[in-house]
Amino acid sequence: MEKGWLGLPYHTISEHYNQLFGEKVYKIPVSVVDDCPNRRGLKGMQTCVFCDVWGSAANAESLSMELRAQIEKYHELIAKKYKAKAFLIYFQAYTNTFTKVSALKNNFDVALSYPWVKGFTLGTRPDCLSKSVLDLWNEYHEKSFVAVEMGVQSFYNDQLDFMRRGHTAEASIEALHKIAENTKVDLGIHLIFGSPGESEETIVRTAEIVNTLPISNVKLHNLHVLKNTPLEEMYHRGEFQPIDRDTYTKHVQLFLQHLSPRIALHRLAAYSSRWDELVAPEWTKNKMGTHQHIIDHLRAQGFYQSQLFSPMNAQDQELQSQILKKSRPI
Ligand code: SF4
Repeated sequence: MEKGWLGLPYHTISEHYNQLFGEKVYKIPVSVVDDCPNRRGLKGMQTCVFCDVWGSAANAESLSMELRAQIEKYHELIAKKYKAKAFLIYFQAYTNTFTKVSALKNNFDVALSYPWVKGFTLGTRPDCLSKSVLDLWNEYHEKSFVAVEMGVQSFYNDQLDFMRRGHTAEASIEALHKIAENTKVDLGIHLIFGSPGESEETIVRTAEIVNTLPISNVKLHNLHVLKNTPLEEMYHRGEFQPIDRDTYTKHVQLFLQHLSPRIALHRLAAYSSRWDELVAPEWTKNKMGTHQHIIDHLRAQGFYQSQLFSPMNAQDQELQSQILKKSRPI
């Protein structure tokens, strides 16, 4: 296990990309839309409780920059810092498919006009998947790498209601199958741990549900309170208390132990580039500290991804047996 996943007790997204591209690729996060169905108030929906005014954008200043300027600025920074040679453009903030298909197409063309861009990935939600959007992904998949990250956040409707997501767990599952059946994009989901009602049982069940889905990757976040969000008001009214670090670590551990080895993880905890906006919990401020705390805990106890996973098909079975061989004491 330690050798098989770049020295980590879980299947990293870096390894997933290495297998796809044969080299390390870096994401350039960009912002090209500033809206979503929730913020628009469609069908009575409201802004998700955790979402700040930037729509979860990594770089707030990007919202006022042209796409080319964003790409070139962050390409230069990342290339210099990591000696990076290959990139994916990450259409991250808000809901990227909540716009005209012609605008999407134009953005994809801009992204792919750089020789060092290997493809793009875009964030969306289950209720913004028209046939023309899926057709467009297929068109671009013919000439490039296309990945989609869907904000699922939870498979429990009481937790989704708390977060005011405006969609159900069933809608997420249906949307993921719709994408998988109609396109060949690399598909992933985002999950948020730490909502009221979450328990060790719901976490294990979440891993079991994920194992059945046609996805290749997951991004984990802990629900944290940012300034000027509905969650901040709830926090100050005493209606929400963030999960503590040890409980979160235990939940990540259980999730990983029950997760199929074929699913890669983007990250194990929330990360924001605007920590001055963080209200609570304090422990989540230190991104690498939290990550290392989880890794140290997993290593100290000998825990790793798929340890308690029951393989459902031959591919899973083969992967798990490879991991078990590699995880023998060395
Ligand atoms: S998290 Fe996404 S869907 Fe929810 S309000 Fe923010 S941008 Fe909209």
